[in-house]
Amino acid sequence: MSGHSIKRLPVDTGVSGWEAISTRSVPVRMLDGNVSADWLIIGAGFAGLSAARRLSQLRPQDRIVVVDAHEIAKGPAGRNSGFMIDVPHSLSSGEYSVGGESATALEIEQNRFAIDFAAQAAAEYGMSAQTFDPSGKINAAATERGLKLNLKYARSLAGIGEKHELFDAAQMREITGSDYYHGGLYTPGAVMIQPAQYIRDLAAGLDSKISLYERSPIVELAKAGSGWVARSHKGQVSAPKVILAVNGHIEDFGHFQGRLLHVFTYASMTAGFSHDQFKRPVTGHDRWALLPADPMGATVRKITANGQARIVIRTRFTYDPSITVTSRRVAGVAAEQLQSLHARFPELQGTPMEFSWAGRLCLSRNSAPAFGEVEENLYAACCENGLGTVKSTLAGVMAAELATGTDSVFLQRFSQGSGPSKLPPSLLTRLGVNSVIRWQELRAGREG
Ligand SMILES: Cc1cc2nc3c(=O)[nH]c(=O)nc-3n(C[C@H](O)[C@H](O)[C@H](O)COP(=O)(O)OP(=O)(O)OC[C@H]3O[C@@H](n4cnc5c(N)ncnc54)[C@H](O)[C@@H]3O)c2cc1C
Repeated sequence: MSGHSIKRLPVDTGVSGWEAISTRSVPVRMLDGNVSADWLIIGAGFAGLSAARRLSQLRPQDRIVVVDAHEIAKGPAGRNSGFMIDVPHSLSSGEYSVGGESATALEIEQNRFAIDFAAQAAAEYGMSAQTFDPSGKINAAATERGLKLNLKYARSLAGIGEKHELFDAAQMREITGSDYYHGGLYTPGAVMIQPAQYIRDLAAGLDSKISLYERSPIVELAKAGSGWVARSHKGQVSAPKVILAVNGHIEDFGHFQGRLLHVFTYASMTAGFSHDQFKRPVTGHDRWALLPADPMGATVRKITANGQARIVIRTRFTYDPSITVTSRRVAGVAAEQLQSLHARFPELQGTPMEFSWAGRLCLSRNSAPAFGEVEENLYAACCENGLGTVKSTLAGVMAAELATGTDSVFLQRFSQGSGPSKLPPSLLTRLGVNSVIRWQELRAGREG
């Protein structure tokens, strides 16, 4: 039996505030000894747990094992800003774009299919309104350029018959309490999740249908007959079929090398504060969710639970092919995020950032997922192109359907693409990506 050694394991730098304030109801279990299953899923983020849920629907009698290198919700799935977005939203274009009519219609249909899948799980597993909130989101503009981008995006949405509403500066002030924004573009179809709580509740809901092993990194994956054996430090899992749901780390399993871009983005969450501390509603409504009108700007959310409000800011993208960033980098970005907070909410000068963290994204040059049967009985649901709350949910469901031979129209359309395109030589890619990021960040200016 010859195996592929996985030499690079995921590193999650900084503590995610979402994870820190969430609760878990099932104890952590590590892989210990030899386990046999009908299915093995490696990676317990949106893709892995969605694949597990779909498999449990399609093959209710089968034994499904899910393993993750870390505790669930400590990785990117519990570190994101929680925007499940239905209308097209391309990170790599530098603008929110609506492409050709048929491509756009398909993308919206796929996004809504994934959001519905998540909504059914949320209802079945009793997730709270704070965990899964179909509130919609606002593209907030803090510059003239941002206002123009919003208008352009509003025209594209009107062109495809999508509901939206433009807000002026006064409406933005009423919602957020801040004078910072000149306008906003509201779209109602986005769902806002508490990402760590969503992932924990999803795993807890699946508890009776799957065996989940955490803190159990897979360090070798080997072919055994027509099936597979995955080895961790203290145990191994044998299964006829395996789904890889490890996002960019699929490269370390020997697939899609030279085709994936490893990018990090960063977030900070304030300490809790009470509205009673201030003479006026300096942060507006209890909950709101702002994407930047310029995609390189700051994503800002406010949440409130038990009378305590918090603000979460996500900014910056960095290209890090090593798939690791330092604590020092996180601290540097956190200092900038504190300035962004104060620029928007001067009254919060005394409120510190309690948590700061970084998280991995996987992008491909042509925005295609790393999906399909990559070797006999080995399936990939990876490379989410930065929007994994929805795209990885979809990829996980599609991988389960592909691996079970389920006939589905969605799967046929999802499988049609040619996969991530090849990148130029690494030095050129590094120079190219870094200069595009830098230029787009400078252009975003006050949106950041
Ligand atoms: C700050 C930030 C903000 C973001 N905001 C948004 C947003 O608002 N909306 C949105 O849609 N997306 C957002 N994202 C992106 C989103 O978090 C990711 O797209 C999503 O988590 C990808 O899901 P996934 O299941 O594909 O991969 P992941 O969540 O990365 O899960 C993969 C899992 O595989 C595990 N793994 C890797 N290697 C191994 C191994 N060898 N053995 C065992 N397990 C392994 C990892 O530990 C990990 O848990 C954001 C990301 C960040 C960092």
